[in-house]
Amino acid sequence: MDDLTTLEVVIGRYEKKIQAAREEIAKRQGPSLEEMITTGRRSSPEEAVQAECRAIAARHPYMELQVNHSFEAAHRLPGHTGKCKRLHGHSYRVRVMLKGLVREDGMVIDFGHVKDVLDQLDHQYLNDFMYRPTAENTAKWLLERIPLAVAVHVWEGLGGGSVVARV
Ligand SMILES: [Zn+2]
Repeated sequence: MDDLTTLEVVIGRYEKKIQAAREEIAKRQGPSLEEMITTGRRSSPEEAVQAECRAIAARHPYMELQVNHSFEAAHRLPGHTGKCKRLHGHSYRVRVMLKGLVREDGMVIDFGHVKDVLDQLDHQYLNDFMYRPTAENTAKWLLERIPLAVAVHVWEGLGGGSVVARV
């Protein structure tokens, strides 16, 4: 089961429990689930949902992770007036910020999945992967492909500037 499927299952459990409680409440023609929550008058189905949601949340806390990695790649920026118009290479450093629920296996995501995406660019000519491979476009390319990523920070070598792309 991949990471996103697992998250959908976790979220689906909440939705199923809440839907089941809603159906039970509707059968009894009493106050709705929302009314029970806002008035504080709780019945057993609603309390069961709350307890289940708390238990799931305790088992699957929401966490922020950071993965640092580097790769070597060549690029050129056609039309650029500076020296970056010529073919050259960088030792790229990348920091990926991810957010998600901790799964049953104790991980939010296997770091290997993140590195697999970063490794796609390792020892490559970045112009084969994107139009004008600036640091900004490289960060955007990675952000679009790494599951659960919320920000990607890219450094071109040690001395240059860096960019951060966020969703
Ligand atoms: Zn460059």
